[in-house]
Amino acid sequence: MFRIGHGYDVHKLVEGRKLILGGVEIPHTVGLLGHSDADVLVHAVMDAMLGALALGDIGHLFPDTDDSFKGADSMKLLAEVCCVCRENGYDIGNIDATVIAQAPKLAPHILTMRENIANVCGCDVSQISVKATTEEKLGFTGEKLGISAHAVALMIKK
Ligand code: ZN
Repeated sequence: MFRIGHGYDVHKLVEGRKLILGGVEIPHTVGLLGHSDADVLVHAVMDAMLGALALGDIGHLFPDTDDSFKGADSMKLLAEVCCVCRENGYDIGNIDATVIAQAPKLAPHILTMRENIANVCGCDVSQISVKATTEEKLGFTGEKLGISAHAVALMIKK
């Protein structure tokens, strides 16, 4: 009746790219590099949902060798993952995600990220938790080389 899944993702920060997290374009000097819009938060969330149902990961569902996903809006991919989960008989119970970034400050954008994800998934914002932390200047996130995200999803049988 309940299934739990975990998702983890990393993208590199580079110049000349937009920084998009949870469907929010955040003003910053650098952005995340990737085949799609590189929304690392939404990627971790999708992998947690798919993982809960043992359906593989987003690389399997949306291969980066497929040009139709080039520059893809990850919120659209999330809508598709929600459909796949429903087709398999599961709805979201709740999601908890953490974005690990040294900069910029994400706190002002957290509520919008939660609302965006909840809207696409057709659930209440209270079911979607997004947190942000730094890694105290340690490692690749601390050195601002990239941003990572973890997510867990509890899926409930319809
Ligand atoms: Zn990714």
